[in-house]
Amino acid sequence: MSHCDAIVNLKQGAPPVSIVLPNQAAYLMNRLTACGHKAFAVGGCVRDSLMGRTPQDWDICTSALPDEMKQCFSDLHLVETGMKHGTLTVIVDHQPFELTTFRIDGEYQDGRHPKQVRFTSDLKQDLSRRDFTINAMAYHPDAGLIDPFSGAADLQEGIIRCVGTAKKRFEEDALRIMRGIRFAAQLGFAIEEETAAALIDCKSLLDRISAERIRIELDKLLCGAGAMSVLSQYREIIGQIIPEARPMFDLDQKNSYHIYTVWDHTLHVIDQIKNTPLLKLCAFFHDIGKPEMMTVTEEGWGHFYRHELASERIADEVLSRLKYNNHTRETVTSIVRNHSIVFRPTAKQARKLLHKLGEEKLRLLIELEYADVKSQNPIYTQERVSAIRAFSEKMEDVLAAENCFSLRDLAVSGRDLIALGMPQGPEIGRTLDRLLDLVMEEELPNERAVLLHSAAEMLNLQANVIGGKKS
Ligand code: ATP
Ligand code: MG
Repeated sequence: MSHCDAIVNLKQGAPPVSIVLPNQAAYLMNRLTACGHKAFAVGGCVRDSLMGRTPQDWDICTSALPDEMKQCFSDLHLVETGMKHGTLTVIVDHQPFELTTFRIDGEYQDGRHPKQVRFTSDLKQDLSRRDFTINAMAYHPDAGLIDPFSGAADLQEGIIRCVGTAKKRFEEDALRIMRGIRFAAQLGFAIEEETAAALIDCKSLLDRISAERIRIELDKLLCGAGAMSVLSQYREIIGQIIPEARPMFDLDQKNSYHIYTVWDHTLHVIDQIKNTPLLKLCAFFHDIGKPEMMTVTEEGWGHFYRHELASERIADEVLSRLKYNNHTRETVTSIVRNHSIVFRPTAKQARKLLHKLGEEKLRLLIELEYADVKSQNPIYTQERVSAIRAFSEKMEDVLAAENCFSLRDLAVSGRDLIALGMPQGPEIGRTLDRLLDLVMEEELPNERAVLLHSAAEMLNLQANVIGGKKS
């Protein structure tokens, strides 16, 4: 196996960028060439290499027909991922590589899939079916960079541009609309004028695209470094896939805590929050219920009482529709439901919230709160950030001291209560909850003797009440 690399000059005067094929990709390409076929690295891996980023995976396109690929690699582990469309996955060193025959997509039906694909021996035809110029480049160490649509120049300039007529390309496959804004957000690129106009023009075609395909692009978009500006500029696209977001767009909050509309505030929170898909979703949905819960006083002051419950309901509906998994749905809705809690720097509150949410979710909630207050009126930021920090320190203290915050940690158990004479049944659970509350409130120490004494008192009281009723 050999290391192949090459220097590519994107533009006169620009520093050269090198493409380094991983050994396994070079090996596969060399074997295809030895069998008499053409083979190139193509798409995302070429784009990412030219940008100096490490590609996630290396796709290879080839003039070999699917059966010819199989023949050429009959000694390797093959997975027939999409032979009809020309795609074969070859495993080398436990790593999968996708090999696809050069192809021309036939006519598209219903804005999603080509009716049929035709194989071709012409690389340029294969490149012309790809979505954006920056994704339509191929590379071979001997042939160099093959770039018929000036993708390298667009990469240099930071431009997303469709290959061919933008409108036609979005009509063929509307997912490209989401891919376009996703790449703009991930790479921090601008969208070229014709492509941008066509995105908006064709947005209703997104209704035909499956939830799963949209969800994948949405996650990548929200995690993109340039998400704030893209979401702001292309909010119409978001309104198409999530119409529930529309009422946020221009909603003035009419109070001194905020300097942005609900939408702009939301975008700032998305920008500020730590970069994980879960947290980005919490940020996206946290205030989505505000429009429907807004009330304005006679003096013109806006309130949003209990908006977190409306946000929770909408988040649940949208996340289900977009087929997010249960863990994501459950976590996001629970963080959103609790995001209006006012943190106090007390061990009591830390214990209660740890009990209610668990450590993992409480940590996520703290992250949302930090991002939320940093996106409000800056005159309150310092004070509010300090309050969250003070609470977070208390939480760490409670966790470090393993202070009591769950029934498991309570110094008495259900068995102890039965031994005291309490009959088996729901009252046992209720009594344990009451004891836990008293411990978390610091009204009782978490000590067995004290808790048993208190439980006995509760039991007596109950017996008296029941006795009283009887007589
Ligand atoms: P990522 O880094 O997110 O994987 P990528 O560009 O590699 O980005 P893939 O979805 O892996 O994206 O697709 C690989 C290549 O296939 C793209 O670079 C592009 O050339 C082509 N492609 C993918 N989806 C489409 C599409 N919907 N329409 C046209 N070409 C597409
Ligand atoms: Mg890829």
